Order: sequence, then C-alpha cells, then structure tokens
Amino acid sequence: MTDKPRARAEARKLIQEFGIKSPPVPVERIARSLGVKVEYAPFDDELSGMAFIKNGIPMIGVNSLHHPNRQRFTLAHELAHIQLHRPELETAVHVDKGSLRVDQTSLRRDPVSATGTDSAEVEANAFAAELLMPEAFLSTAVGDRKLDLEDVDVLMPLAKKFRVSLMALQHRLNND
Ligand SMILES: [Zn+2]
Repeated sequence: MTDKPRARAEARKLIQEFGIKSPPVPVERIARSLGVKVEYAPFDDELSGMAFIKNGIPMIGVNSLHHPNRQRFTLAHELAHIQLHRPELETAVHVDKGSLRVDQTSLRRDPVSATGTDSAEVEANAFAAELLMPEAFLSTAVGDRKLDLEDVDVLMPLAKKFRVSLMALQHRLNND
C-alpha cells in the first residue's frame, strides 16, 4: 500500500532535525550525516541511481553524467528508499531508471516484491519532492501568487532557488 503522507512526513522530519531554514536543501549533507555513503559514477544515461546496503552500510550511487539538479533529486529519491524501505534493501540492490517517472520499472526481479515496487517508487518520489521542496519553503517562495505551471519565466527562478529541475517543480506544484 502506498503511503505518501508518511513519506512526506519523514522528509519534513529530516528538514526539522537538520535545522534547514531555507532552500536549497543540502540533500547530500543530510544523507552523509545519516551515515549513508554517497558515490557518483558515470552510469548509462537511462540509469539515474541506486541504493543498497553493503556490510551494514547504506550506499547510494548517483549518475554523475546527469544534470546536477537531477542528481539532487536522484539522491533524495534513493535516500527515501533507505529511510522508508530499508528491509527490502537488505536483500536486493534497488536500481532506478529515470527518477521522475512514476511508472518506471525497477530492475529487481524478485516476484514477491513486484507489487510493492510501484508504491515504493511513488513514496520515494513523494519523499524526494518534499525534501527538496518542503511545503513551508515553497509557500514562502510562492506567496500569494497564482502560478501558471506553463509560465517558465516565473517558474525557472523558483526552480533555481530550490536547485531542482523545472519538471520536478512543476510536478511538485501539480501534485500537492
Ligand atoms: Zn526508486
């Protein structure tokens, strides 16, 4: 079962715990402070990142060839799997192809986890969006304005402020 509210709540908890007051959210510092080993490597373009546990240490791999903003989202997404789906990571490497696609497929072949995979992805994306674009920071930045999701001139400075892609911002504004 998909639990987006829990995923978002976990992300907000981290923002509070680390005393983050404004964007951009230092997602790599948060991950490392949580004991996660973060590594960047040039993967195939379709592969955005992966998460796994090695000798008890949570590890995240991020595709270093992608745009820095996309790398931030990937890192936040993989961190979600470590924070929310750790038991599954103990038995299999989680590989993500494309970090914003909700209908993405995972490379995991374990048939038992197949049904859980989609909801895990939805939760990880909800966590990542909330971590990088926390509700409170977003409403401060947007203020009373009514945002047009197609108005790139208005959205781009916002995306820059949060160091997220335009698509990630549009997705966030559209979904919440
Ligand atoms: Zn994932």
